[in-house]
Amino acid sequence: MTGRLWQPKRVLLTRSARDWAHGIAIAERAAGLGIAVDELPTDRLALGFPDDDRRAYAAAKQTLAVVVAPPSKLRLQPIAPSADWRVDLAQGCPAHCSYCYLAGSLKGPPITRAYANLPEIIAELPRHLGEGTITSRSSARAHEGTTFEASCYTDPLALEHLTGSLSAMIGWFGAWQVPTQLRFTTKFDAVEPLLGLEHGGRTRMRASINPALYARYEGGTSPVAARLAGLAKMGHAGYPIGLTIAPIIAAEGWELAYATLIAQAAEALATVPGLDLTIELITHRYTPGSKAVLESWYPGSKLEMGAANRAEKRTKFGSVKHVYDAATMRTLRGFFEAEIAARLPTARILYWT
Ligand code: SF4
Repeated sequence: MTGRLWQPKRVLLTRSARDWAHGIAIAERAAGLGIAVDELPTDRLALGFPDDDRRAYAAAKQTLAVVVAPPSKLRLQPIAPSADWRVDLAQGCPAHCSYCYLAGSLKGPPITRAYANLPEIIAELPRHLGEGTITSRSSARAHEGTTFEASCYTDPLALEHLTGSLSAMIGWFGAWQVPTQLRFTTKFDAVEPLLGLEHGGRTRMRASINPALYARYEGGTSPVAARLAGLAKMGHAGYPIGLTIAPIIAAEGWELAYATLIAQAAEALATVPGLDLTIELITHRYTPGSKAVLESWYPGSKLEMGAANRAEKRTKFGSVKHVYDAATMRTLRGFFEAEIAARLPTARILYWT
């Protein structure tokens, strides 16, 4: 079973986005798929429903806006622990995960915004080469070269059939013959447009996976088996690949559920030649702000965000995060390290958080 491609109800093309060939191309792709494209007279995005959060949420999740990334978004930021730099092709995601990490970072109704000024985004990259302070300073990861993460504010594969931005970026890194790596992680499976690209081994795709037990928390994403099948196809196409096991949720039955998931991943990837596999392990966490937004978006969700098994952690900016307590963290970490060593012995765990 594969996931369905996202079909937004509306595409909004802002005035500034019409100045960019990539913006026009996205609108043309959408129109070719039978989606209504509204050419806006200005750059302002307004969906209506100012007094109805539920309807505003629903309308936003069915809308793709093609916009120009402002200069503030073009300035790359370090993004620990994944990569030296964060590079954004879009902001927002059409799926409905009840733990979505974007809830705490995006303001207003979650319209997905694809950036039309891709050439400007790409033009920022060369001056960051060799300037990384995250993976470039890690003895275990410096060999990856300067790393750029494209999944911080979006799921780029969810949008690829509409935007083509990820393919353009992968092709660009493929031609950029320097020590560098583009990285993206996804809960989608539509990898076909990426398989034939000249990637030069300089893009690592990771599948973001969780057990079937938690599928109800991941509305609108591709089934996990399909994500793993997509990842295996990328491995067969010569891409380095990885698993992002996230968010790790310590709910009843978690041990069997994650043991089954890791076995499923091992089976899906068993025939990938010269498997180059990394694993990132990210436990479930939330902030007071993201919890409030998620509870308003998904009032019926059974996802546990209470005080049991939790500890407060202060970030370096002084804000509070709720993570699992030390005893739960130790149990989880020991379990994952042992299961991965047993089932995926050649995989490298990049980090635990
Ligand atoms: Fe958020 Fe990722 Fe789910 Fe999209 S797929 S809603 S970005 S958690």
